[in-house]
Amino acid sequence: MSFSDAVMAGLARDGGLFLPQRIPDVRDRLADWAKLPYAELAVAVMQPFVDLAPEVLRDLVQRSYKTFAHPEITPVVKVNDVHIVELFHGPTLAFKDVALQFLGNLFAHFLQQNGGELNLVGATSGDTGSAAIHGVRGRERIRIFVMHPRGRVSRSQELQMTSVLDANVHNLAIDGTFDDCQGILKELFNDLAWRDRQRLGSVNSINWARVLAQVVYFFYAGLKVMRETGAKGVRFAVPTGNFGDIFAGWIAQRMGLPIRKLVLATNENDILARFFESGEYRKGTVQATISPSMDIQVASNFERYLYYRVGEDAARLRGMMGDFARSGALKVAPGLDGAIDPLFAAGRGNTAATQATIREFYREANYLLDPHTAVGVHVGRQHLEKDEPMVCLATAHPAKFGDAIREAVGVDVAHHPSLDALAGAKTRVTALPADAAAVRAYVERHTGGAS
Ligand SMILES: *Cc1c(COP(=O)(O)O)cnc(C)c1O
Repeated sequence: MSFSDAVMAGLARDGGLFLPQRIPDVRDRLADWAKLPYAELAVAVMQPFVDLAPEVLRDLVQRSYKTFAHPEITPVVKVNDVHIVELFHGPTLAFKDVALQFLGNLFAHFLQQNGGELNLVGATSGDTGSAAIHGVRGRERIRIFVMHPRGRVSRSQELQMTSVLDANVHNLAIDGTFDDCQGILKELFNDLAWRDRQRLGSVNSINWARVLAQVVYFFYAGLKVMRETGAKGVRFAVPTGNFGDIFAGWIAQRMGLPIRKLVLATNENDILARFFESGEYRKGTVQATISPSMDIQVASNFERYLYYRVGEDAARLRGMMGDFARSGALKVAPGLDGAIDPLFAAGRGNTAATQATIREFYREANYLLDPHTAVGVHVGRQHLEKDEPMVCLATAHPAKFGDAIREAVGVDVAHHPSLDALAGAKTRVTALPADAAAVRAYVERHTGGAS
């Protein structure tokens, strides 16, 4: 399957996820890559994976990152004992813009080349939805339907979605959790006849192009920090929900970026942390926290990582995922490259630890961490190692979670003009029950595709 087909399809027809046939070894290019500005580096990193001419890829990349407010796109700053790569300078102030601005341009390019239309259906715990909407709003040939768990996203996140009034944008507030939304999404995508008829596409991180676009900033930040510190390798701390961001880091490591440790950080919803400690992946119940974009039990991208853990054995993986769907648990057997992957370290930050970290960085360094970033910083600092600088991913601008910041530091300090401007904005949203049939009927009514 070509890259463009995989991007347009989102999810494979057998319910699995797309992965590249080969992961290139780029170790001999790292010295050159360390000198490149972000957009040029993005072209270099992504080129081996795509079927686009270099000038087309360059044009798509440049248009995608023009919307960022910082000239470096993802600048790196040293704060206290860690390096922070700020991934929140895009239009919706979360790292998801890095991938979704690019994906919006990719979709538009492929549709322009091949004709047809695309109906994007997505589920969001808050940040994906707004980033996806801002990636495709107002575009011809594309409609977008985004489900969010009603009342379980922050007020700013909600307004960033529902205040977009373009006719091609449909916000659906689902009476349920994010996992309910993801379950509905899966059900819709698994009805192949319906999916074809409706020309469904995916903006969720099951779309390979999103993971690919995120690989770039691991190289950008890793190479930059190594250059500045003279270190031969780095560690990354990644606040994790759906395992998309950290899987991008895993790909970067496989390509040859000297990442010595991937520190996986969760909030109280710690299914992934438990897996990397024990080898067992067992579903719990979702708990609402102050880092809502990580309130996830079933991580949609984890399956991609497992594929490599079981020796790229698709049949075996299918069996494991089937067992997991039935029983809510799976186990990587000891002996299968060892049950514990030494590249990973894992830990969790509960509400108190998250607030304490926000408070400490604010008081000591006058630097505001959003709660997701704070979870990563908290866990990352437990895994500091001499000569291996720790790079913490800052996944959202603090103003996106202003209430949590105010509670942590005692003052209302986290603001951003683009969010303040949303207060009192006109909004449009449709409430629906947590029921695939209701969502299906809504989509059909608005694509004219009922049958
Ligand atoms: C989506 C999100 C995460 C989790 O990222 P995954 O790729 O799902 O692991 C963390 N922080 C913020 C702010 C997010 O929006």
